[in-house]
Amino acid sequence: MGIIRPLGRSLTPLPDESAAGFLMRLSCRLETSPAEIAIATGLVTPARARNPLPQVLQPPDGVIELFARRIRSTEEEAARMFLTAFAEKYPPASNLPRSYRTSVGSRHNRWLFLHASRFCPVCLAGDGSPVQRAFGGVWKRTWRLPPVFACLVHHRYLAHECPVCHVSALSTNPGTVHGSLPRWRDSGIHPARCRSTNEEGGVRRRSTPEMGCPARFDQVSPPSIVPSVQVEQLQDRLLSLLSPDGPDFVDILGRITPVAHYFNDLRVLCHLFRTSWPACLEFVHDRQLREAAAACELAAEDSPRSATLRSFHDSPLPAAIPCAALLAGADSLLRSIQPRELGTYVKELLSHDPRRPGKADWSRDFLETRPACSDGLLRALAPVLQTYARSRLPRAVKKPIRKVSYRVDNIPQFLQCDWYENYFGGMDGIAVSAIRRTAALRLCQIAVGGSLHNAASMLDFPLTAEGKHRAADGAKRVHQWARQRPDPGEFEEAVHSLADYLDQCDSLIDYRRRRNALRNWCIPENVWREIASRIPEPENAGHRPELGERKRQTASIVVWARLSEGEHVFAPHPIRNRQDPKNRNAWRLSDYAFWARIQQGTTRQVDDQLLALLDQYIAHLAPIIDLEGEVPKESSPWS
Ligand SMILES: [Zn+2]
Ligand SMILES: [Zn+2]
Repeated sequence: MGIIRPLGRSLTPLPDESAAGFLMRLSCRLETSPAEIAIATGLVTPARARNPLPQVLQPPDGVIELFARRIRSTEEEAARMFLTAFAEKYPPASNLPRSYRTSVGSRHNRWLFLHASRFCPVCLAGDGSPVQRAFGGVWKRTWRLPPVFACLVHHRYLAHECPVCHVSALSTNPGTVHGSLPRWRDSGIHPARCRSTNEEGGVRRRSTPEMGCPARFDQVSPPSIVPSVQVEQLQDRLLSLLSPDGPDFVDILGRITPVAHYFNDLRVLCHLFRTSWPACLEFVHDRQLREAAAACELAAEDSPRSATLRSFHDSPLPAAIPCAALLAGADSLLRSIQPRELGTYVKELLSHDPRRPGKADWSRDFLETRPACSDGLLRALAPVLQTYARSRLPRAVKKPIRKVSYRVDNIPQFLQCDWYENYFGGMDGIAVSAIRRTAALRLCQIAVGGSLHNAASMLDFPLTAEGKHRAADGAKRVHQWARQRPDPGEFEEAVHSLADYLDQCDSLIDYRRRRNALRNWCIPENVWREIASRIPEPENAGHRPELGERKRQTASIVVWARLSEGEHVFAPHPIRNRQDPKNRNAWRLSDYAFWARIQQGTTRQVDDQLLALLDQYIAHLAPIIDLEGEVPKESSPWS
């Protein structure tokens, strides 16, 4: 590197000034072109001066120090002139493209005005000081961020285009593949002047200072409305969240959320709002803003291709007023309600699309790109988007939508009784077993994604025809039933509320561990003798119940079902298996009959005595299995 020579007559960077704005002001002062200044300050090498946009938006590696010395400022001041400073808080400003040809305008950076800028005419006019009167005011860096739509100093919405030629301010040269500021190599153009080279009749001539649009951005008249106090508060909050020195977290949807996730949430909701414009305006509480936005004609994308339409709707609106309306609506939803309500609104907004919610353009875009949104938004969207049951799923929906902290191991095959009572107890018109089985499978899908079939195998449903049938049939019945309910989303929402509860539990039972320990298990003979001996002789010298092998099998099934919270029909039955094939069915029916008596509350005295002893045995086994992962052979509560 050669000797660093500071420029003789530099300028002090203004607060929030962009590098592009600084180059324009300094070139005006030194009566040269922004390109010459960029080369002289080391920001751009002569070889790259034809394609400098990436360098003007983010400093090339290692040039900040050089740039700072040449413009006689501190490194910190110089670093603040580039968009990269926002990367941590505002995801679209991270991973800025290094080369214009390859990736400028990629989806990731789309929510950044890389090729134009909004502006405040009064800021551009300067503060009246001699230097600003001569060379103009500040072109702010934050004006390239779509969430910045108003100037809080001058209480006005930002402008975005020339009032005369209607070309976007600082629009990158159209019709070329080179990304450069407009009139990058032209000298003598005031920073506040429109840099469009569009001549009357569309003819472009050789560049001279006189050619091009003569309009001045610092003389643009104000829009018809001024931002209300409420809108300014929103802008103030957004600016503070964007600031690298601002807060790291924000409270939305009832949860403390990293700021970067909040901005992704805003973008995702603005996209949804665009697809359902103007229905979304009902969420904009500021009447003046709502009416002004409703009067704006949003350009319609005429391409019928889904992918084009999706990127069109995901792009930020350059005009400040409708963009402010979208952001205000999205922000008010995120701040004022709980995920459950937001899910309902999302469903309503998706109803403009004739396809079902999971298939709508916006949903497909979300599922394919999976933006890093807040936990609250993911919680709101999961019941809307993750309603799949088929075994063959498109790739995009195989991943879970929300993040949960409970594990699949914590889910029993058949929903725990108290969970059922608390979350599904009031639901009538459907078999309890279908709800308990399907809810367990859905909890598994919420945690790991994938199909119902996959969930059944993760919960160790037997891979027999009966096991598969029960899993699929229960879910089918629940879905059919749910569609007929006054609120078809009631069941899904209840499963997600239960998932919320499980997420807050400090300790959950590891049901998989229990299922593994009890695989092919039955009550050991010595323990069974102990149990049988404790059942008293019937009163009045009545008939003593049979307490042989068949009862041991039945009792083993009860213990298995209680410990693993599985369905008795899926319990192992090793003793029954050892019987003569023609007896097995009778044994099975006997097991079922015993179970039916428990379910219906028609147990006999001897059943109750047996069940009471089994309860003691279960209470004895549970902590041992949870700790050691296996059932002790000899141990019983009575030994
Ligand atoms: Zn201003
Ligand atoms: Zn113009």
